[in-house]
Amino acid sequence: MLLTVATATILFLFPIAQEVGADEDKTHAPPPVAIDGLTGVPIDISTLVASVVFHLDTRTAVVNADLTFEMTADGMPVFDLRQEIVSGTLNGVEISPAQMAAHDLGPASGTIRILEAELKAGATHTLHLEYELQKPQSPQSIAIGWGKGRLDWDFFFSDLNQGRYMEMWFPSNLIYDHFGFQLDLQLEGALAPHEIVTNATVQKLGDFHWQLSFPAHFTAFSHMLVVVPSEKIERSTATAIMPGGKKISVDVCRLKDTNTSNKTIHKRVAEEMIRFSKSTGAWPHGNRCTVFVWSGGRSMEYDGATTTSMGALSHELHHSWYGRGVKPRSQNDGWFDEAWTTFAADGFRMSSAKLGEEGTKRTLCSDNPWNRTTSGDSYRPGGAAFHRIADAIGEKKLMGLMAKFFAKYQLKTASTQEMEAFLFEATKNPAVKQVFHRYIYGLDGSWKDSDASKKE
Ligand SMILES: [Zn+2]
Repeated sequence: MLLTVATATILFLFPIAQEVGADEDKTHAPPPVAIDGLTGVPIDISTLVASVVFHLDTRTAVVNADLTFEMTADGMPVFDLRQEIVSGTLNGVEISPAQMAAHDLGPASGTIRILEAELKAGATHTLHLEYELQKPQSPQSIAIGWGKGRLDWDFFFSDLNQGRYMEMWFPSNLIYDHFGFQLDLQLEGALAPHEIVTNATVQKLGDFHWQLSFPAHFTAFSHMLVVVPSEKIERSTATAIMPGGKKISVDVCRLKDTNTSNKTIHKRVAEEMIRFSKSTGAWPHGNRCTVFVWSGGRSMEYDGATTTSMGALSHELHHSWYGRGVKPRSQNDGWFDEAWTTFAADGFRMSSAKLGEEGTKRTLCSDNPWNRTTSGDSYRPGGAAFHRIADAIGEKKLMGLMAKFFAKYQLKTASTQEMEAFLFEATKNPAVKQVFHRYIYGLDGSWKDSDASKKE
């Protein structure tokens, strides 16, 4: 339901969110990785504090970033940043960029940086970095849009290539890690008003100066940010009333060249949010939802937010329950975002003939703990895997169990093995195990003969 539609500049001031799931981050990290004669040890980031100043006249953007973290074990810390580091300090002592070089783990993982200093677990460490923001050194990334006194900048995360989350722009971690992020953002030399469209809490400090606060339960793929000249968009807020009466403030920004109206977008957003609240559970992202609509093909989900075409709106909103509500713990678990959304939101079903036959085995969840890409087979073949489970245990039963799984894991991370165990424990139906065995882990034969079935 819609109440008001009004154009507004938005100032969100909410209490700082509780840290959800952060206690478990250290145990959810992948094992240390040996490469190029070094052994990199995963870290647990507590906070990222950064500032970026865009100088529109010279088309340069200067970043200062402070990463505060603990080690998961003694050793050399692993982090990622797809920018060229100019200078840095570790715990106040200068370190050279060569001591934080990128190391290539192969096409599925891409590069990670290993900081060549032996650090102790149990202590808090601070890495300070300075660099100029450029087009990220990540596959299929897009450049900063420099205009005459104008800026177009979109975080533009993606699951489908490695190195396409926060690490494109700011020092970050793999997706097992929850951490808070404070970003001070300034435009100098702007010749027109700009809008900040984001799922952060925003404090406007000046006409071209904003303080963004992303909550501590976010992981590296949660953050939405679009900076755009105001003249390009139409922005409106409306209240959507959820089942049970909870009011959600929906912030809609629409690029003016899209062939729809803000009113239509608000109506669709409210309808879909009500639909998924009924099927899966209450909206998990506080009392707001942020939607940026454009025409064209690329759409992306964020925590309680999306940048999307109208065609993908329903799909991307559903990810605020599955994908960015329940979050995959590693990219090996990223298949379930797409598979469950394809089945539950997009309504994909196999033909009954295909459902009755054994299908091609697929590896949607790999056994490489450093994998950083979601398989393209996660969509339809992944949706088909859920259809096979629904066929075995009943669709209503499966929908109910996935709602319970959501209730248990919302704003936390979940693994494929936890989902498999949850569905199997609740049903004791061996077909569940066999679907995971063949269509998720990509294994031959029966789950009963497999070591993978004994893994938790
Ligand atoms: Zn998706």
